[in-house]
Amino acid sequence: YATLSDFARVASSPRIRAGILENAVEMEIQIDCTTTVELLKGDLVMNNRTTSRGAWQSAALLALIGGVGVLALHKPTHAGQAPAPVAPPPGATVLFSGTEEEMKKNFVKRGTDQDGHWKIEDSAMVVGGGDITTRQKFADYQLHVEFKTPFMPDKHGQARGNSGIGLQGKYEVQVLDSFGLKTPGTGDCGSIYNQSAPLVVASRAPKEWQTYDIVFRRPRAGADGKLSKARVTVIHNGLAVQNNYEIKGATGIGSGADTDQPDVIIFQDHGNKVEYRNIWIVPLPEQGSSK
Ligand code: MG
Repeated sequence: YATLSDFARVASSPRIRAGILENAVEMEIQIDCTTTVELLKGDLVMNNRTTSRGAWQSAALLALIGGVGVLALHKPTHAGQAPAPVAPPPGATVLFSGTEEEMKKNFVKRGTDQDGHWKIEDSAMVVGGGDITTRQKFADYQLHVEFKTPFMPDKHGQARGNSGIGLQGKYEVQVLDSFGLKTPGTGDCGSIYNQSAPLVVASRAPKEWQTYDIVFRRPRAGADGKLSKARVTVIHNGLAVQNNYEIKGATGIGSGADTDQPDVIIFQDHGNKVEYRNIWIVPLPEQGSSK
């Protein structure tokens, strides 16, 4: 249970109240009013508990405005816990640990050879001024990324905390504020954009750090000479949201036919101030030994 005090930080702005309400109504909501809550306008008295959407909205709004009542709500059933920054394992290539130097050395402004230009604030890189990509191209790999979406309560759907990670220059693992959604879809956080919705709910709240661990397998020629599809497994906050998913083709963050050639990893500027930190990658061989 989260209590009202968890949301005290949000009580100062009408816009923020609206955001909490909107996220909350998408959650499995159960309200416990251990005391009777009298609404400020005096036109409704709520007793005990209710699960109705309208009642939740009223109670939450009034509790936030007036600080009245005792309010508790269930967190999403499968919400994972994001650990503190995950240290790169031995053998990993650190792409970004918080420095300007790494931004310039390891990233470029997308489609150019100019140094990566995103601002660094509090050791995080902040989306702004267009996409960046890794300078280096990668084939198969395990990629660790931590991200934080901004709190944008007056925005909705794809306009709320949108960014994304483009694998092999064309397949997007979506980054979005999808906190509180009961049934995330193919455009939500943890999706392969427009193709595959996350398997379970793992999103944390905006302004909280979240983790992606992405295992990518590029297309390659099989015994019959035909190119296989790319595959991806995505662990979001410790939960598997994509399970060896076979990617149908470019998702829109990039274009072109599937290829077995290594390519860059894109970090998308979708106009929202998403932040990234602690990015490392372990390039993987095509297969292990035959021992
Ligand atoms: Mg996106």
